[in-house]
Parts: sequence; structure tokens; C-alpha cells
Amino acid sequence: MIEARTLPRLFAGATNRPLSLEAHEEMFRPAGNVASLLDELDASGLVGRGGAAFPTTRKVQLLRNQRGHKYVVVNGMEGEPAAHKDNRLLSTNPHLVLDGAEMLATMIGASRIAICVARDNPTVVHHVEQAIHERARRNLRGPGIDLHTPPWRYVAGEESALVHWLDDNESLPQYRPDRPHILRIGRGPAMVDNAETCANVGLIGRYGAQWFRALGTHDHPGSVVVSVTGAVTRPNVLEVNLGTPISSLLASAGADPAPQAVLLGGYGGAWLRGDQINTPYCNEALAPLSLSVGAGVAAVLPRQACGIIEAHRVVRWMAHESARQCGPCAFGLPALAEDLLAVVRGGRDGVAAIARLQDRCNVIEGRGACRHPDGVVRFVRSSIDVFAADIDNHLRGAPCAGARSSQRYLTVPALEHEEDLIWE
Ligand code: SF4
Repeated sequence: MIEARTLPRLFAGATNRPLSLEAHEEMFRPAGNVASLLDELDASGLVGRGGAAFPTTRKVQLLRNQRGHKYVVVNGMEGEPAAHKDNRLLSTNPHLVLDGAEMLATMIGASRIAICVARDNPTVVHHVEQAIHERARRNLRGPGIDLHTPPWRYVAGEESALVHWLDDNESLPQYRPDRPHILRIGRGPAMVDNAETCANVGLIGRYGAQWFRALGTHDHPGSVVVSVTGAVTRPNVLEVNLGTPISSLLASAGADPAPQAVLLGGYGGAWLRGDQINTPYCNEALAPLSLSVGAGVAAVLPRQACGIIEAHRVVRWMAHESARQCGPCAFGLPALAEDLLAVVRGGRDGVAAIARLQDRCNVIEGRGACRHPDGVVRFVRSSIDVFAADIDNHLRGAPCAGARSSQRYLTVPALEHEEDLIWE
């Protein structure tokens, strides 16, 4: 049996092939008492691993009180280009994710589970299909499981966009002024949880809350999966104890021990300065720095990189990825990208642009139907703050060598075939 105080937990038994149902049952103890599931989940303190860190029990309570034909939706879309954690989990331990989804379905009284994986990722789609077939061959009673494969894009993984897709094939976020809000497929209430959250429920349902809490911190218990990318020699998806110093998780991916900055949480996240990398990786330690674990990304920027050029690339791509159904996204995000470009080019236009950026951020924040523009604003503000020295250099026409190099560190898929900006 896997141990409470050691890792891996979520990746126990994982190889480069998915664990078969048989191997999965040998690796993990059978699920515990269904009647005590909700109490154990509550005592575990599990919060969602998709980015928002919403307490999973509160979601369950909200859905338990709803009537109708309910759904559990497993979000395996992995919209963040720098994140690979849900894909890795679904490709190694898919049955742990499906077990957790079934437990959630039991708790809220759902009769169907919809698992969503981007169609652009055929290997993961295939692994999940196989896992569903293995379970179907057992003829077990329980909720039916359907695989859905929406097209990949950044906002397609936003929970209301996912439900919108399941409801009428449109990957557009829905306007939700009063969050938390019950999402619906047809008239049926739907509970959306990402794959890592479901896998954690699968563990808590077997080993209980006390076991779960043997790792992590009081307010942020358990283990967490993080994709370490950027300037590292071994880009990796790691399962770590929440509260581990960030420096040690960077070291295990072969990062420079003295980076310029580390982007945490994904492209809607914020930068940790290079001199803060001994901060524990958990929300309670990161919150005073206005940071969070978010979508489980740590992207390393080395000292020789130009932070403001990297920021411009990300914002240009995030503007491109919006659903363009609200003003802040349709007009605000391209304007942020334009201003960042002016800063990169420097001179008088750059000075005017840097003054405008803060005002634009204030106008955009909180005005979108979903949180996509708020994430971009957070990223822009953090970039202006952390890369102040780079900005000064660009404005006075003397950027560092990183701006003159074509080497980039953050993955920005849509831009890979477009001309990148090199300061001249
Ligand atoms: S804020 Fe942007 S991404 Fe969100 S719904 Fe509006 S247009 Fe779409």
C-alpha cells in the first residue's frame, strides 16, 4: 500500500504506460465506507487543484442540495500551455481519476460522469477511452462515463466554457455575476472538477482524511502536481509535498539555482522574484506575496532573459485566446499587448505606454464575464513590478543582451509560427 508520508501518491505505480484496472486495484486499497465519504472529504481540507483552490466539500454541498439529473464533469482540458499535469495523470493513473469522479458522483447523487480531454491530444484521449472500456467490461453498477473531446484553446478549460460545450457545443464561458453559481447541462446541475482534484478524492475515499493530511500544510494539505518548465535541463511534471521550498522543486528539474524570476500558477499567474525561491510552495506561504499555486506551473526565467519581451509574448497570445465576447477581452487585452510592445521598443511611445498600462489594467479588471482578463491583468502588473529594471533599460534605449537574442523560455503555441520580436 502507498504510504501516507511518502511520495508518490497520485503517481504511485506510474510508468510510461497507463496502469491497467487490475494493476490499479493491486496498487491502491479498495474504497472505504461510502457513508463516511463526505465527512472524510470535509476533514481532509482538499481544495480544487485547477487554479481557484475552492474547497471541494463546499462544491459537493452546493450540488447535493440541487434537484434533477446531475453530472460530474472531469476537466482534463489542460488549457495552460505550460501545464502538463492532468495529461500526465490521465496517461498514467486514469482509474484513480475515474474513481474520484465516481465518488463525487455518489456524494452529489449524479447519474453521469462526463470526462473532457482536448481532441488535439489523441494519446491522452486514447488512454482515457481504454480506461473507460476496461471499466465497462466489468459491468459495474454506477454512473455512466462518457468521454468528450472539445477542441483545445485556453478558455475552453474554463469550467463554464466546458459546461457550455457539453450543453451546446460552444466553448464560450458563461456570464456568472454571482459566483459560486450552479452550472447546468440542459436543466441538470453539473459539478466540474479538474483531473488532479478527482484523483485526490480517489485517494481520500480509500485512505481517509488523516492519511491525506500527513503531507502538506495545515491550510493547504496533501501533495500537488507541478509542471516545471522554462530554463530547466529536465522539464518535468513532479508530485511534491505542499510546503516544499520552491528552490528544491526547481532543483529537481535542473533549474539554474539563481534564476531571475519564476512564473507561478500559469499565464494568468504572477512572478516570484529570484531571491524569493526559498518560499514554501503552498498557498498560505505564497498569499502574502500575492501569489498562489494556481494551475500548478513553475516556469523558470534565467537572468539572461528579457522579462518584458517574454511578458509581451504571453499577453499577445492571451489576447488571441480570448473568446472576444466581452469588451475587456475584445479591446482591452490587445491594447495591453500593444502597450507592452511599445515598452519593448522604448523611446517616447514606450514612456507613454507604461503610464497607460496601469490605467488599462484598472479598467479591465473585474469586467469580463469570466476571469480570463483578470488573469492577464495580474500577469501584466506582476511583470511591470518584477521586470522594472528591464523596462527602464528599454525605455532609455539600452536593453540587455536577452532582448537581442532569439532564445525564449515561455511556451507560447500560437506564436511559434509567427515572427517573434527581437529588439534591434
Ligand atoms: S471575459 Fe473574455 S474570455 Fe471571458 S467570456 Fe468574456 S470574452 Fe470570453
